[in-house]
Amino acid sequence: MRYLPIHVDMKDAKILIIGGGSAAEAKLRTLIETEANLCVVAPEISDEIARWKSQNKLVWNQRDFVPSDLKAVRLVYAATEDDEENARIANLGREKGLLVNAADQKDACDFITPALVDRSPVIVSIGTEGTSPSLARAIKTDLEARLPHSLGKLANIINELRAKVKLKIPSLSERQLFWAEIFDGKDLLSQLRVSGEELTSRVSRKMNSHKDSNNGGVCLVGAGPGNPDLLTLAARQKLHSADVIVYDRLVSKGVLDFGRREAEYIYVGKEPGGKSTPQSEINAILIEKALEGLTVVRLKSGDPLIFGRADEEVDALEISGISYSIVPGITSASAAAAEIGASLTTRGHNKAVSLLTGHDAKGFAEHDWKTLAAKGARAAVYMGVGASGFIQGRLLMHGADKHLVVTVVENASRAEQIIVSTTLERLSEDIAANGVKGPAILLLGYAPRSIAETSFKRSAAQ
Ligand code: SAH
Repeated sequence: MRYLPIHVDMKDAKILIIGGGSAAEAKLRTLIETEANLCVVAPEISDEIARWKSQNKLVWNQRDFVPSDLKAVRLVYAATEDDEENARIANLGREKGLLVNAADQKDACDFITPALVDRSPVIVSIGTEGTSPSLARAIKTDLEARLPHSLGKLANIINELRAKVKLKIPSLSERQLFWAEIFDGKDLLSQLRVSGEELTSRVSRKMNSHKDSNNGGVCLVGAGPGNPDLLTLAARQKLHSADVIVYDRLVSKGVLDFGRREAEYIYVGKEPGGKSTPQSEINAILIEKALEGLTVVRLKSGDPLIFGRADEEVDALEISGISYSIVPGITSASAAAAEIGASLTTRGHNKAVSLLTGHDAKGFAEHDWKTLAAKGARAAVYMGVGASGFIQGRLLMHGADKHLVVTVVENASRAEQIIVSTTLERLSEDIAANGVKGPAILLLGYAPRSIAETSFKRSAAQ
Protein backbone atom coordinates (compact mmCIF):
# COMPACT_ATOMS: atom_id res chain seq x y z
CA MET A 1 0.00 0.00 0.00
CA ARG A 2 1.74 3.14 -1.21
CA TYR A 3 -1.08 5.57 -0.40
CA LEU A 4 -2.39 5.78 3.15
CA PRO A 5 -6.15 6.20 3.30
CA ILE A 6 -6.99 8.56 6.17
CA HIS A 7 -9.96 10.80 6.85
CA VAL A 8 -8.54 14.21 7.77
CA ASP A 9 -10.56 16.76 9.71
CA MET A 10 -10.88 19.72 7.34
CA LYS A 11 -13.29 21.83 9.37
CA ASP A 12 -12.24 25.47 8.83
CA ALA A 13 -8.91 24.45 7.24
CA LYS A 14 -7.91 26.49 4.20
CA ILE A 15 -7.71 24.66 0.89
CA LEU A 16 -6.26 26.43 -2.11
CA ILE A 17 -7.49 25.58 -5.61
CA ILE A 18 -5.59 27.12 -8.47
CA GLY A 19 -7.61 27.14 -11.66
CA GLY A 20 -11.19 27.86 -12.63
CA GLY A 21 -11.90 25.46 -15.51
CA SER A 22 -13.15 21.91 -15.75
CA ALA A 23 -10.19 20.38 -13.82
CA ALA A 24 -10.79 22.71 -10.87
CA GLU A 25 -14.52 22.14 -11.08
CA ALA A 26 -14.04 18.36 -10.83
CA LYS A 27 -11.95 18.75 -7.65
CA LEU A 28 -14.36 21.28 -6.18
CA ARG A 29 -17.35 19.02 -6.62
CA THR A 30 -16.05 16.89 -3.73
CA LEU A 31 -14.40 19.72 -1.80
CA ILE A 32 -17.62 21.75 -1.45
CA GLU A 33 -19.07 18.86 0.56
CA THR A 34 -16.46 19.41 3.29
CA GLU A 35 -16.42 22.08 5.98
CA ALA A 36 -13.13 23.55 4.75
CA ASN A 37 -12.53 27.15 3.66
CA LEU A 38 -12.10 26.94 -0.09
CA CYS A 39 -10.12 29.59 -1.88
CA VAL A 40 -10.05 29.58 -5.69
CA VAL A 41 -7.34 31.57 -7.47
CA ALA A 42 -7.95 32.03 -11.22
CA PRO A 43 -8.45 34.86 -13.68
CA GLU A 44 -11.71 33.25 -14.80
CA ILE A 45 -14.09 30.66 -13.38
CA SER A 46 -16.68 28.35 -14.94
CA ASP A 47 -20.41 28.90 -14.50
CA GLU A 48 -20.63 26.05 -12.01
CA ILE A 49 -17.82 27.46 -9.87
CA ALA A 50 -19.48 30.88 -10.08
CA ARG A 51 -22.68 29.28 -8.83
CA TRP A 52 -20.87 27.76 -5.82
CA LYS A 53 -19.33 31.17 -5.18
CA SER A 54 -22.75 32.79 -5.17
CA GLN A 55 -23.84 30.17 -2.60
CA ASN A 56 -20.86 31.21 -0.42
CA LYS A 57 -19.29 27.77 -0.73
CA LEU A 58 -15.96 29.25 -1.77
CA VAL A 59 -14.00 32.47 -2.08
CA TRP A 60 -12.65 33.56 -5.48
CA ASN A 61 -9.50 35.65 -6.00
CA GLN A 62 -9.77 36.83 -9.59
CA ARG A 63 -6.15 36.84 -10.68
CA ASP A 64 -3.15 34.63 -11.52
CA PHE A 65 -1.52 32.48 -8.88
CA VAL A 66 1.35 34.05 -6.88
CA PRO A 67 3.60 32.02 -4.55
CA SER A 68 2.39 33.96 -1.50
CA ASP A 69 -1.04 32.29 -2.03
CA LEU A 70 0.50 29.22 -0.41
CA LYS A 71 0.63 30.89 3.00
CA ALA A 72 -1.41 29.27 5.79
CA VAL A 73 -3.05 26.63 3.62
CA ARG A 74 -3.42 22.92 4.46
CA LEU A 75 -3.93 21.46 1.00
CA VAL A 76 -3.17 22.66 -2.50
CA TYR A 77 -4.87 21.63 -5.70
CA ALA A 78 -2.98 22.75 -8.80
CA ALA A 79 -5.85 22.48 -11.27
CA THR A 80 -5.23 24.98 -14.05
CA GLU A 81 -5.74 23.65 -17.55
CA ASP A 82 -1.95 23.70 -18.11
CA ASP A 83 0.03 20.60 -17.00
CA GLU A 84 3.38 22.38 -16.81
CA GLU A 85 1.96 25.19 -14.73
CA ASN A 86 0.33 22.63 -12.42
CA ALA A 87 3.62 20.77 -11.95
CA ARG A 88 5.41 24.07 -11.21
CA ILE A 89 2.81 25.07 -8.58
CA ALA A 90 2.93 21.57 -7.09
CA ASN A 91 6.71 21.86 -6.69
CA LEU A 92 6.41 25.25 -5.01
CA GLY A 93 3.83 23.87 -2.60
CA ARG A 94 5.91 20.82 -1.81
CA GLU A 95 8.96 22.99 -1.09
CA LYS A 96 6.86 24.64 1.59
CA GLY A 97 6.01 21.23 3.06
CA LEU A 98 2.39 21.31 1.85
CA LEU A 99 0.44 18.35 0.54
CA VAL A 100 -0.24 19.00 -3.13
CA ASN A 101 -2.39 17.49 -5.82
CA ALA A 102 -1.74 18.29 -9.46
CA ALA A 103 -4.69 17.54 -11.73
CA ASP A 104 -4.18 14.50 -13.95
CA GLN A 105 -0.50 14.09 -13.01
CA LYS A 106 -0.18 11.23 -10.60
CA ASP A 107 3.61 11.63 -10.30
CA ALA A 108 3.30 15.25 -9.23
CA CYS A 109 0.75 14.42 -6.50
CA ASP A 110 1.32 13.81 -2.79
CA PHE A 111 -2.23 12.58 -2.48
CA ILE A 112 -4.95 11.43 -4.82
CA THR A 113 -8.69 11.59 -4.37
CA PRO A 114 -10.49 8.28 -4.03
CA ALA A 115 -13.88 7.53 -5.53
CA LEU A 116 -16.49 8.14 -2.83
CA VAL A 117 -19.82 6.77 -1.80
CA ASP A 118 -21.09 9.55 0.40
CA ARG A 119 -23.67 8.69 3.00
CA SER A 120 -22.28 11.21 5.47
CA PRO A 121 -21.23 10.58 8.13
CA VAL A 122 -20.67 7.16 6.54
CA ILE A 123 -18.14 7.53 3.76
CA VAL A 124 -16.84 4.66 1.69
CA SER A 125 -13.72 5.60 -0.21
CA ILE A 126 -12.37 3.43 -2.99
CA GLY A 127 -8.82 3.86 -4.18
CA THR A 128 -6.80 2.02 -6.77
CA GLU A 129 -3.61 4.07 -6.24
CA GLY A 130 -4.29 5.64 -9.60
CA THR A 131 -4.03 2.34 -11.47
CA SER A 132 -7.59 2.02 -12.57
CA PRO A 133 -10.07 4.86 -12.08
CA SER A 134 -12.61 2.94 -14.15
CA LEU A 135 -12.46 -0.01 -11.75
CA ALA A 136 -12.92 2.38 -8.80
CA ARG A 137 -15.93 3.87 -10.56
CA ALA A 138 -17.43 0.44 -11.22
CA ILE A 139 -17.11 -0.48 -7.53
CA LYS A 140 -18.56 2.88 -6.58
CA THR A 141 -21.57 2.38 -8.86
CA ASP A 142 -22.19 -1.03 -7.34
CA LEU A 143 -21.99 0.26 -3.77
CA GLU A 144 -24.11 3.30 -4.60
CA ALA A 145 -26.89 0.95 -5.62
CA ARG A 146 -26.58 -1.19 -2.53
CA LEU A 147 -26.07 1.19 0.34
CA PRO A 148 -29.34 2.82 1.35
CA HIS A 149 -29.46 6.61 1.41
CA SER A 150 -30.72 6.43 4.99
CA LEU A 151 -27.36 5.02 6.10
CA GLY A 152 -26.07 8.37 7.32
CA LYS A 153 -29.18 8.88 9.43
CA LEU A 154 -28.74 5.40 10.88
CA ALA A 155 -25.14 6.18 11.82
CA ASN A 156 -26.26 9.30 13.66
CA ILE A 157 -28.89 7.33 15.56
CA ILE A 158 -26.29 4.73 16.53
CA ASN A 159 -24.06 7.53 17.75
CA GLU A 160 -26.82 8.72 20.05
CA LEU A 161 -27.56 5.20 21.31
CA ARG A 162 -23.91 4.51 22.10
CA ALA A 163 -23.98 6.57 25.30
CA LYS A 164 -26.95 4.57 26.65
CA VAL A 165 -25.36 1.25 25.76
CA LYS A 166 -22.11 2.36 27.39
CA LEU A 167 -23.92 3.06 30.66
CA LYS A 168 -25.52 -0.38 30.63
CA ILE A 169 -22.41 -2.27 29.45
CA PRO A 170 -19.19 -0.67 30.70
CA SER A 171 -16.80 -3.32 29.32
CA LEU A 172 -15.44 -2.35 25.93
CA SER A 173 -15.11 -5.85 24.55
CA GLU A 174 -18.64 -6.77 25.67
CA ARG A 175 -19.93 -3.61 24.13
CA GLN A 176 -18.23 -4.38 20.86
CA LEU A 177 -19.80 -7.81 20.91
CA PHE A 178 -23.17 -6.22 21.59
CA TRP A 179 -22.91 -4.03 18.51
CA ALA A 180 -21.44 -6.84 16.42
CA GLU A 181 -24.55 -8.85 17.23
CA ILE A 182 -26.82 -5.96 16.27
CA PHE A 183 -25.20 -6.03 12.83
CA ASP A 184 -24.18 -9.65 12.72
CA GLY A 185 -22.95 -9.67 9.15
CA LYS A 186 -25.71 -11.98 7.89
CA ASP A 187 -27.46 -10.18 5.10
CA LEU A 188 -26.02 -6.89 6.30
CA LEU A 189 -27.44 -4.93 3.42
CA SER A 190 -31.03 -5.68 4.30
CA GLN A 191 -30.28 -4.97 7.97
CA LEU A 192 -28.98 -1.55 6.97
CA ARG A 193 -32.38 -0.77 5.52
CA VAL A 194 -34.09 -0.78 8.93
CA SER A 195 -35.71 2.45 10.02
CA GLY A 196 -34.28 4.50 12.87
CA GLU A 197 -37.23 3.50 15.10
CA GLU A 198 -36.74 -0.19 14.41
CA LEU A 199 -33.06 0.08 15.19
CA THR A 200 -33.71 1.98 18.42
CA SER A 201 -36.18 -0.62 19.63
CA ARG A 202 -33.89 -3.48 18.61
CA VAL A 203 -31.08 -1.94 20.66
CA SER A 204 -33.36 -1.36 23.69
CA ARG A 205 -34.67 -4.93 23.58
CA LYS A 206 -31.16 -6.28 23.41
CA MET A 207 -30.00 -4.04 26.25
CA ASN A 208 -32.86 -5.25 28.43
CA SER A 209 -32.01 -8.88 27.86
CA HIS A 210 -28.29 -8.34 28.28
CA LYS A 211 -26.74 -10.42 31.05
CA ASP A 212 -23.54 -9.31 32.68
CA SER A 213 -20.73 -11.77 32.38
CA ASN A 214 -17.04 -11.53 32.97
CA ASN A 215 -16.05 -14.73 31.28
CA GLY A 216 -13.97 -14.68 28.20
CA GLY A 217 -13.63 -17.71 26.01
CA VAL A 218 -11.57 -19.12 23.23
CA CYS A 219 -12.76 -20.10 19.80
CA LEU A 220 -10.52 -22.23 17.61
CA VAL A 221 -11.24 -20.97 14.15
CA GLY A 222 -10.29 -22.51 10.82
CA ALA A 223 -8.86 -19.85 8.52
CA GLY A 224 -9.04 -22.07 5.43
CA PRO A 225 -6.27 -22.34 2.86
CA GLY A 226 -5.66 -18.61 2.50
CA ASN A 227 -8.14 -17.18 0.04
CA PRO A 228 -10.51 -15.10 2.21
CA ASP A 229 -13.44 -16.15 0.02
CA LEU A 230 -13.07 -19.62 1.49
CA LEU A 231 -13.65 -18.43 5.04
CA THR A 232 -16.90 -19.52 6.68
CA LEU A 233 -19.47 -16.97 7.81
CA ALA A 234 -19.01 -18.22 11.37
CA ALA A 235 -15.27 -17.58 11.15
CA ARG A 236 -15.89 -14.06 9.91
CA GLN A 237 -18.26 -13.36 12.77
CA LYS A 238 -15.84 -14.73 15.35
CA LEU A 239 -13.02 -12.65 13.93
CA HIS A 240 -15.20 -9.60 13.94
CA SER A 241 -15.97 -9.88 17.64
CA ALA A 242 -12.55 -11.02 18.87
CA ASP A 243 -10.58 -8.94 21.37
CA VAL A 244 -7.48 -11.04 20.80
CA ILE A 245 -6.46 -12.97 17.67
CA VAL A 246 -3.72 -15.54 18.13
CA TYR A 247 -2.63 -16.65 14.67
CA ASP A 248 -0.32 -18.99 12.80
CA ARG A 249 2.16 -18.39 10.01
CA LEU A 250 -0.02 -19.71 7.21
CA VAL A 251 -2.98 -17.49 8.06
CA SER A 252 -3.23 -15.00 5.22
CA LYS A 253 -3.49 -11.24 5.57
CA GLY A 254 -6.81 -11.24 3.74
CA VAL A 255 -8.26 -13.42 6.49
CA LEU A 256 -6.71 -11.40 9.31
CA ASP A 257 -8.31 -8.31 7.79
CA PHE A 258 -11.67 -9.56 9.04
CA GLY A 259 -10.48 -8.86 12.58
CA ARG A 260 -11.09 -5.44 14.08
CA ARG A 261 -8.21 -3.02 13.95
CA GLU A 262 -8.44 -2.47 17.70
CA ALA A 263 -8.06 -6.19 18.46
CA GLU A 264 -4.76 -7.45 19.82
CA TYR A 265 -2.93 -9.63 17.28
CA ILE A 266 -0.49 -12.21 18.59
CA TYR A 267 1.68 -14.10 16.10
CA VAL A 268 2.67 -17.57 17.26
CA GLY A 269 3.80 -18.97 13.91
CA LYS A 270 6.51 -21.47 13.29
CA GLU A 271 8.99 -20.67 10.55
CA PRO A 272 9.97 -23.84 8.66
CA GLY A 273 13.16 -25.02 10.30
CA GLY A 274 13.26 -21.81 12.31
CA LYS A 275 11.95 -20.21 15.47
CA SER A 276 8.65 -21.34 16.86
CA THR A 277 6.45 -20.52 19.83
CA PRO A 278 6.30 -23.60 22.07
CA GLN A 279 2.82 -25.11 22.36
CA SER A 280 2.88 -24.58 26.15
CA GLU A 281 3.41 -20.88 25.59
CA ILE A 282 0.52 -20.68 23.11
CA ASN A 283 -1.73 -22.47 25.62
CA ALA A 284 -0.63 -20.05 28.34
CA ILE A 285 -1.48 -17.04 26.14
CA LEU A 286 -4.96 -18.39 25.38
CA ILE A 287 -5.66 -19.06 29.04
CA GLU A 288 -4.29 -15.76 30.28
CA LYS A 289 -6.28 -13.69 27.79
CA ALA A 290 -9.51 -15.62 28.39
CA LEU A 291 -9.12 -15.24 32.17
CA GLU A 292 -8.91 -11.48 31.62
CA GLY A 293 -12.45 -11.76 30.30
CA LEU A 294 -11.42 -11.31 26.70
CA THR A 295 -12.85 -13.02 23.67
CA VAL A 296 -10.01 -14.91 22.05
CA VAL A 297 -9.86 -16.33 18.54
CA ARG A 298 -7.20 -18.94 17.97
CA LEU A 299 -6.84 -18.75 14.22
CA LYS A 300 -5.29 -21.71 12.43
CA SER A 301 -4.76 -22.36 8.76
CA GLY A 302 -7.10 -24.79 7.03
CA ASP A 303 -9.15 -26.77 9.50
CA PRO A 304 -7.96 -26.57 13.12
CA LEU A 305 -8.80 -30.26 13.55
CA ILE A 306 -6.40 -31.47 10.86
CA PHE A 307 -2.72 -31.31 11.79
CA GLY A 308 -3.57 -28.31 13.91
CA ARG A 309 -2.81 -29.50 17.46
CA ALA A 310 -6.31 -28.40 18.39
CA ASP A 311 -6.65 -31.18 20.95
CA GLU A 312 -3.62 -29.98 22.91
CA GLU A 313 -5.10 -26.51 23.19
CA VAL A 314 -8.56 -27.79 24.04
CA ASP A 315 -7.05 -30.02 26.79
CA ALA A 316 -5.32 -27.01 28.31
CA LEU A 317 -8.49 -24.90 28.15
CA GLU A 318 -10.58 -27.63 29.75
CA ILE A 319 -8.11 -28.02 32.61
CA SER A 320 -8.34 -24.28 33.25
CA GLY A 321 -12.15 -24.34 33.07
CA ILE A 322 -12.27 -21.99 30.09
CA SER A 323 -15.16 -22.26 27.70
CA TYR A 324 -14.27 -22.93 24.10
CA SER A 325 -15.84 -23.61 20.75
CA ILE A 326 -14.51 -24.73 17.38
CA VAL A 327 -15.30 -23.36 13.94
CA PRO A 328 -14.07 -25.77 11.28
CA GLY A 329 -12.36 -24.54 8.15
CA ILE A 330 -11.66 -25.77 4.65
CA THR A 331 -8.62 -27.96 4.90
CA SER A 332 -5.85 -27.47 2.34
CA ALA A 333 -6.31 -30.95 0.83
CA SER A 334 -9.89 -30.03 -0.08
CA ALA A 335 -8.77 -26.72 -1.52
CA ALA A 336 -5.97 -28.38 -3.50
CA ALA A 337 -8.34 -31.04 -4.87
CA ALA A 338 -10.84 -28.36 -5.86
CA GLU A 339 -8.15 -26.42 -7.70
CA ILE A 340 -7.33 -29.39 -9.90
CA GLY A 341 -10.95 -30.45 -10.25
CA ALA A 342 -10.27 -33.87 -8.74
CA SER A 343 -12.66 -35.72 -6.49
CA LEU A 344 -10.88 -36.92 -3.34
CA THR A 345 -13.02 -40.06 -3.38
CA THR A 346 -14.27 -41.61 -6.59
CA ARG A 347 -17.02 -44.18 -6.69
CA GLY A 348 -15.67 -47.49 -7.89
CA HIS A 349 -12.08 -46.37 -7.50
CA ASN A 350 -11.11 -45.43 -3.94
CA LYS A 351 -13.23 -45.95 -0.87
CA ALA A 352 -10.81 -44.08 1.33
CA VAL A 353 -8.32 -41.28 1.18
CA SER A 354 -5.52 -40.88 3.70
CA LEU A 355 -4.51 -37.52 5.06
CA LEU A 356 -0.84 -37.85 5.95
CA THR A 357 1.83 -35.66 7.40
CA GLY A 358 5.32 -35.72 5.91
CA HIS A 359 6.79 -34.76 9.28
CA ASP A 360 6.08 -35.65 12.84
CA ALA A 361 7.77 -34.84 16.14
CA LYS A 362 10.57 -37.30 15.32
CA GLY A 363 11.35 -36.08 11.77
CA PHE A 364 10.14 -37.70 8.55
CA ALA A 365 6.94 -39.50 9.46
CA GLU A 366 6.62 -43.27 9.03
CA HIS A 367 3.32 -44.68 7.76
CA ASP A 368 1.76 -47.93 6.66
CA TRP A 369 3.67 -47.72 3.38
CA LYS A 370 2.47 -51.10 2.12
CA THR A 371 -1.17 -49.99 2.19
CA LEU A 372 -0.30 -46.62 0.69
CA ALA A 373 1.73 -48.26 -2.09
CA ALA A 374 -1.11 -50.61 -3.04
CA LYS A 375 -2.81 -50.13 -6.38
CA GLY A 376 -5.63 -47.58 -6.22
CA ALA A 377 -4.56 -46.10 -2.87
CA ARG A 378 -4.84 -42.34 -2.67
CA ALA A 379 -3.49 -39.83 -0.21
CA ALA A 380 -3.03 -36.14 0.45
CA VAL A 381 0.24 -35.31 2.13
CA TYR A 382 0.56 -32.25 4.34
CA MET A 383 3.98 -30.82 5.24
CA GLY A 384 5.43 -33.07 2.57
CA VAL A 385 7.71 -30.84 0.50
CA GLY A 386 10.88 -31.44 2.54
CA ALA A 387 9.96 -35.10 2.95
CA SER A 388 9.09 -35.71 -0.70
CA GLY A 389 12.27 -37.68 -1.45
CA PHE A 390 11.69 -39.83 1.62
CA ILE A 391 8.03 -40.48 0.76
CA GLN A 392 8.93 -41.30 -2.83
CA GLY A 393 11.65 -43.73 -1.70
CA ARG A 394 9.44 -45.48 0.86
CA LEU A 395 6.53 -45.91 -1.57
CA LEU A 396 8.73 -47.26 -4.38
CA MET A 397 10.44 -49.59 -1.92
CA HIS A 398 7.02 -50.98 -1.00
CA GLY A 399 6.07 -51.66 -4.59
CA ALA A 400 4.20 -48.52 -5.66
CA ASP A 401 3.90 -47.90 -9.40
CA LYS A 402 6.64 -45.47 -10.45
CA HIS A 403 4.19 -43.94 -12.97
CA LEU A 404 1.65 -43.18 -10.24
CA VAL A 405 0.37 -39.69 -10.93
CA VAL A 406 1.15 -37.11 -8.24
CA THR A 407 -0.05 -33.52 -8.27
CA VAL A 408 1.56 -30.92 -6.05
CA VAL A 409 -0.50 -27.85 -5.24
CA GLU A 410 1.46 -25.05 -3.64
CA ASN A 411 -0.41 -22.13 -2.06
CA ALA A 412 -3.76 -23.65 -2.98
CA SER A 413 -6.47 -21.01 -3.50
CA ARG A 414 -4.03 -18.12 -3.19
CA ALA A 415 -2.89 -15.77 -5.93
CA GLU A 416 0.59 -17.36 -5.84
CA GLN A 417 -0.76 -20.87 -6.45
CA ILE A 418 1.39 -23.27 -8.47
CA ILE A 419 0.29 -26.70 -9.69
CA VAL A 420 2.90 -29.27 -10.64
CA SER A 421 1.65 -32.52 -12.08
CA THR A 422 4.20 -35.30 -12.14
CA THR A 423 4.78 -38.98 -11.38
CA LEU A 424 6.02 -40.73 -8.27
CA GLU A 425 9.44 -41.44 -9.78
CA ARG A 426 9.96 -37.77 -10.69
CA LEU A 427 8.34 -36.29 -7.60
CA SER A 428 11.22 -34.78 -5.66
CA GLU A 429 13.06 -33.84 -8.86
CA ASP A 430 10.03 -31.93 -10.19
CA ILE A 431 9.40 -30.29 -6.82
CA ALA A 432 12.94 -28.92 -6.92
CA ALA A 433 12.78 -28.03 -10.63
CA ASN A 434 9.62 -25.98 -10.11
CA GLY A 435 10.94 -24.23 -7.02
CA VAL A 436 8.11 -25.52 -4.79
CA LYS A 437 8.89 -24.53 -1.22
CA GLY A 438 5.47 -24.89 0.38
CA PRO A 439 2.99 -24.63 1.82
CA ALA A 440 1.96 -27.43 -0.51
CA ILE A 441 -0.17 -30.53 -0.58
CA LEU A 442 1.07 -33.60 -2.43
CA LEU A 443 -1.91 -35.39 -3.94
CA LEU A 444 -0.82 -39.01 -4.49
CA GLY A 445 -2.84 -40.70 -7.22
CA TYR A 446 -4.62 -37.53 -8.37
CA ALA A 447 -4.25 -35.76 -11.72
CA PRO A 448 -5.76 -32.44 -12.72
CA ARG A 449 -9.15 -33.24 -14.24
CA SER A 450 -8.55 -31.28 -17.37
CA ILE A 451 -4.91 -30.84 -18.07
CA ALA A 452 -5.58 -28.19 -20.71
CA GLU A 453 -7.60 -26.03 -18.35
CA THR A 454 -5.22 -25.86 -15.43
CA SER A 455 -2.16 -23.73 -15.02
CA PHE A 456 0.17 -26.54 -13.99
CA LYS A 457 3.75 -26.49 -15.15
CA ARG A 458 4.45 -30.08 -16.12
CA SER A 459 2.15 -32.82 -17.22
CA ALA A 460 2.47 -36.38 -16.05
CA ALA A 461 3.02 -37.43 -19.63
CA GLN A 462 6.21 -35.39 -20.02
N1 SAH B 1 -4.74 -27.32 9.56
C1 SAH B 1 -4.19 -27.17 8.24
C2 SAH B 1 -2.87 -27.91 8.10
C3 SAH B 1 -1.77 -27.32 8.92
S1 SAH B 1 -0.26 -28.13 8.69
C4 SAH B 1 -5.19 -27.58 7.20
O1 SAH B 1 -6.24 -28.13 7.54
O2 SAH B 1 -4.97 -27.35 6.02
C5 SAH B 1 0.54 -27.09 7.51
C6 SAH B 1 0.47 -27.70 6.14
O3 SAH B 1 -0.78 -27.45 5.55
C7 SAH B 1 1.47 -27.12 5.15
O4 SAH B 1 2.74 -27.68 5.32
C8 SAH B 1 0.84 -27.55 3.85
O5 SAH B 1 1.07 -28.91 3.59
C9 SAH B 1 -0.62 -27.39 4.15
N2 SAH B 1 -1.16 -26.11 3.68
C10 SAH B 1 -1.62 -25.08 4.40
N3 SAH B 1 -2.08 -24.09 3.59
C11 SAH B 1 -1.91 -24.54 2.33
C12 SAH B 1 -2.21 -24.01 1.04
N4 SAH B 1 -2.80 -22.83 0.89
N5 SAH B 1 -1.89 -24.75 -0.04
C13 SAH B 1 -1.33 -25.96 0.09
N6 SAH B 1 -1.04 -26.52 1.27
C14 SAH B 1 -1.33 -25.82 2.37
